[in-house]
Amino acid sequence: MKIDLHTHTSFSDGTDKPSELINKALAAGITVIGLTDHDSISGWQEATNSLRPGISLVPGAEISCQTTDGISVHILGLLFDSSNSELMNTLEKTRENRHGRMEKIIARINEAGIDITMNDVLAQLSDGATLGRPHLADALVKKGVVASRDEAFTQMLHNNSKYYVSHYSPTPEAAIALIKAAGGVSVIAHPMASHRGRTISLETFGSLIDSGLDGIEVDHRDHSPDEKKQLISLASESNLVMTGASDYHGNGKLNSLGEYTTNPDEWERLESRANARRVITV
Ligand code: AMP
Ligand code: ZN
Ligand code: FE
Ligand code: FE
Repeated sequence: MKIDLHTHTSFSDGTDKPSELINKALAAGITVIGLTDHDSISGWQEATNSLRPGISLVPGAEISCQTTDGISVHILGLLFDSSNSELMNTLEKTRENRHGRMEKIIARINEAGIDITMNDVLAQLSDGATLGRPHLADALVKKGVVASRDEAFTQMLHNNSKYYVSHYSPTPEAAIALIKAAGGVSVIAHPMASHRGRTISLETFGSLIDSGLDGIEVDHRDHSPDEKKQLISLASESNLVMTGASDYHGNGKLNSLGEYTTNPDEWERLESRANARRVITV
């Protein structure tokens, strides 16, 4: 088994369509693929239609969250019931709020004398996709302001930038509760990816565990060997599932499919915590 539980498509800020993702995953020898677009489940249908024997789909979403002290946290919700209206409404509210937030970021960039419009950004977005800073990055590349998505982030769009504006997001505790109420499981994504901005304290970790967090994404390219060690101790102490995943974004990032994977025993433990069997196969 080769299990990659965290990937993105053009329904958020990835560059592959769900059908392309499934084809590439098959070619990479992946047998279980998690689809976790930001704040959206819009890619599930196409991914399901693209399945073939040998690969199964773990439907999910990467939920943008913010702690009460303003730290950005990503919670992977997997195997939840998509007819749960509380969870779906929260995702929708986040997606809508991302538009007003983008207008504000653009206004700040315009104030600095850089000419870019909302239409330039929306032109980089696929139909029905969750809007995010990577689309602004792509628009800045197209305008010749920066050379790549990565340069856009390191120079202008990182979380500590003067242009940065956050958007509505639930707290991670609320997201974990919503996922659980919808029968799914929650895994905190790249909890120690410090280059993205401030990361959560041990206290906040405790609060997430008390709220019902199921797992920790340990193996991820944004974690150092030392950070992984700390996360492994934390997971063992609290009996949490440990996952590994690529956080694949197509051409949008260097991350390659299956570069980190989840141990089959850990996956089995995680999957059994959902309230129904929701892995999709053909
Ligand atoms: P947003 O959701 O709009 O706040 O944008 C955050 C997203 O930007 C994350 O999900 C990352 O995948 C992406 N991102 C962050 N840093 C980089 C980078 N250096 N290069 C490409 N994408 C990035
Ligand atoms: Zn992303
Ligand atoms: Fe993330
Ligand atoms: Fe991600």
